[in-house]
Amino acid sequence: MMRVTTMPTRPFGDDKPREECGVFGVYGHKDSAAHTALGLHALQHRGQEATGIVSFDGAQFHSHRGLGLVGDNFGSASVIGRLKGHSAIGHVRYSTSGETILRNVQPLFAEFASGGFAIAHNGNLTNAVTVRDRLVARGCLFQSTSDTEVIIHLIAISHRATVVDRLIDALNQIHGAYSLVALTNDAMIGVRDPFGVRPLVLGAIEGAPVIASETCALDILGAEFIRDVAPGEMVVVTDGGIESLKPFGPSRSRFCIFEYVYFSRPDSTVEGASVYETRKRIGAELARETAVSADMVVPVPDSGVPAAIGYAAESGQPFELGIIRNHYVGRTFIEPTDQIRHLGVKLKHNANAPSLAGKRVVLIDDSIVRGITATKIVEMVRNAGAAEVHMRIASPPTAHSCFYGVDTPARDKLLAARHDIAGMAAYIGVDSLAFVSLDGLYRAVSARRRDAAAPTYCDACFSGDYPIPLVDHEGGSDSRQLSLLAEAG
Ligand code: AMP
Repeated sequence: MMRVTTMPTRPFGDDKPREECGVFGVYGHKDSAAHTALGLHALQHRGQEATGIVSFDGAQFHSHRGLGLVGDNFGSASVIGRLKGHSAIGHVRYSTSGETILRNVQPLFAEFASGGFAIAHNGNLTNAVTVRDRLVARGCLFQSTSDTEVIIHLIAISHRATVVDRLIDALNQIHGAYSLVALTNDAMIGVRDPFGVRPLVLGAIEGAPVIASETCALDILGAEFIRDVAPGEMVVVTDGGIESLKPFGPSRSRFCIFEYVYFSRPDSTVEGASVYETRKRIGAELARETAVSADMVVPVPDSGVPAAIGYAAESGQPFELGIIRNHYVGRTFIEPTDQIRHLGVKLKHNANAPSLAGKRVVLIDDSIVRGITATKIVEMVRNAGAAEVHMRIASPPTAHSCFYGVDTPARDKLLAARHDIAGMAAYIGVDSLAFVSLDGLYRAVSARRRDAAAPTYCDACFSGDYPIPLVDHEGGSDSRQLSLLAEAG
């Protein structure tokens, strides 16, 4: 059932959570669809709203896309069997702006005069609305409300000769963060934006090239890791081998530091560093900067565990599992409404009361965004009888929204944008609250302090220093009408 409404909707410009996604592709392997499904399963933490795979069998493209988890959509042999071919790409998606509808589920697919083209995108384009308005004015008809479709239209109208050159032409007209994987009749293409904001790695399984968001997607297959795709690099995989292009001129890496803090899986190695070891080092920095006298160090599971291990080792205080997590509930943050998010925390965590009673507790988590999780956890720990509850956070205060593909709400919903640290402590109900400094975070991640004139990471969520222009927001165009069609259920 579809309904047409005259209400303006803002598919990628409102205050709802933004997408954070995972991409995967394999070229030249008889089990390409099955491998892609497994790779996406390993990347499930990057998005649980929807998933899709497009394969190519040398004559025809095959597609299966659906809402929900990878296992729910690609768990059956018959679905994988229908995705024929030696090459496939796939995507896991976190919803953007409430538009969780099938026509937005990636990979998106288009038929050009030169053949088929499928594309999967992790990131967020910052001038998509502006470019889309221009394209609509000249007659382009958009099928989805996804910013990624802008790239397809720019390819379609490019005057360049080959698909690769058209894609380069298209990407030269957009701003934003993107790690893309695309599949054409004769190539798989991986590309990272010039700042390399989102991760992308190159690997191989039994000689077949693989492109994935994170190394954990290689590990699940027993595939070897070759290297990171470099910022601003395009890798073109064909029967002739792997070609590396640098189509955007010189680039300067501004990898998203929040991938280390929260988003990437701890067993992944990103940009040469183990995520797990990095999180432990952040915890150690946190202890050096903010340690408080306490009887036990308790992580908010699972996201606070590595930092709590590092904090406990550095402070010499015992690490205890004072909160137990039920693993059969999705991430709290993923739930669509604040009301459900509250419920999600209760569903997901329970205090280990016998261990906490009468104790001075230091709770460790990776970040505070809205402050909902922390408030509920603190209440739970107090109700379990803790004598004191201190909270230490393994990232600086998240005071600015991300426009480059990590899900953060609008600024006025960020606790750190509304309160100073004392106000935040009062809001979440702790005896004390402290965050690792931005310099401390840099030391843990790169063994160097932050160079304010030339930071080596994108840390905009903490610093407000946005390396890529926010074209749509500067022009106020995020409030313009973008889609008149709302699809029901
Ligand atoms: P909140 O209740 O909004 O303060 O949520 C903060 C919690 O959500 C933290 O403990 C993180 O583990 C987790 N988190 C932080 N950033 C994100 C994100 N972009 N997407 C999903 N979960 C997140």
